[in-house]
Amino acid sequence: MVGVSYTIDAAILLIYAYAGTITFAIPLGYLACGLLSVAGFIAISETRLNDRFKEHTFVLQQTGVSLAIMLLFAYLAPEVGILFVCSIFLVFTFAALRSNLRHALVGWISASLGLAVLFCFTDRPIAMPIGTALERLATMLVFVLVLGRGMIVGLFSSSLHDSLYKRGIELREAYRRIQELAELDELTGALNRRSIMQSLDEEIIRTQLTEGNCTVALIDLDWFKRINDQFGHPAGDEVLRTFAITIFANIRSIDKFGRYGGEEFLLILPEATDSAAHRTVDRLRAIVAELDWIAISHGLSVTMSAGVATLRAGDTVDSILTRADAALYRAKALGRNQVIST
Ligand code: GH3
Ligand code: MG
Ligand code: MG
Repeated sequence: MVGVSYTIDAAILLIYAYAGTITFAIPLGYLACGLLSVAGFIAISETRLNDRFKEHTFVLQQTGVSLAIMLLFAYLAPEVGILFVCSIFLVFTFAALRSNLRHALVGWISASLGLAVLFCFTDRPIAMPIGTALERLATMLVFVLVLGRGMIVGLFSSSLHDSLYKRGIELREAYRRIQELAELDELTGALNRRSIMQSLDEEIIRTQLTEGNCTVALIDLDWFKRINDQFGHPAGDEVLRTFAITIFANIRSIDKFGRYGGEEFLLILPEATDSAAHRTVDRLRAIVAELDWIAISHGLSVTMSAGVATLRAGDTVDSILTRADAALYRAKALGRNQVIST
């Protein structure tokens, strides 16, 4: 973009040269200086030489070189000084795209000092040529093309802004997904063990603070090894998925359901008394037992056993889980497909 900008300026200078305002050496010299500076910075960037410096964007250096070229040529060809003074605006619009406050201040102070020297400490007749029709055309082009380039830089910056905004939305979505993946069990979509244990920890603290009720149920699928052996591991996976979906469809939004391990799940029922929780879990047991599993395989039937424990004063995560586990053990010992409360 900077290279194209120097070429446009050189083309206008060429018109001034045709009009006899300046010599042909000015457009050629200006184009050579401009393109050489651009080539130099491209070479630095391509060889990654700039990476060795703390401020590797080299914005300040590029602004400085462009500024020096403009001021030098305003000094050498004051007859068309308006072109170089206008181009200083462009140098700053380009630089502003990548500047920070320090760059902007240093650039502005340098430009001010340079212009002060040019206007106050030299007697160069900085001019805006309008003597002939060709000069008027060239001068008009200076303004029109500076405006046009300024607008393009502005559009470029707003498209950057748009793409940053979109990227921000994508990042937020990716972050939400990562959080979800970190909390959920991949196979069943239930909370994973870390997450359900954290929920239990929080629920115990909350219940103890509010002196309310909280009941947990450890649920284990019956004879699951047999299901795997008889119908295959993929069918077993499908059973786990369908089981989890069924539980989710039949619990309250405040209940928490997570995979404790293998085919063992933990259900947290906040604000549920022992008897209410027992009824809820037994209802879930009946739903699972009556479910039609034919979509997975003929002759497949699945039941669950559960041990229910209600939070007591002084309970910890370990103590309530130990009681629920003991109740689950009894449910298994008593023949499975049942719910036992402690
Ligand atoms: P019980 O009624 O006493 O609970 O009998 P069980 O066969 O269910 O008990 P056990 O705990 O011995 O067997 C659990 C089985 O669950 C063993 C393991 O292969 C299977 N299992 C654990 N995780 C998965 C899984 O992600 N997918 C499948 N398909 N099977 C699993
Ligand atoms: Mg089991
Ligand atoms: Mg088990």
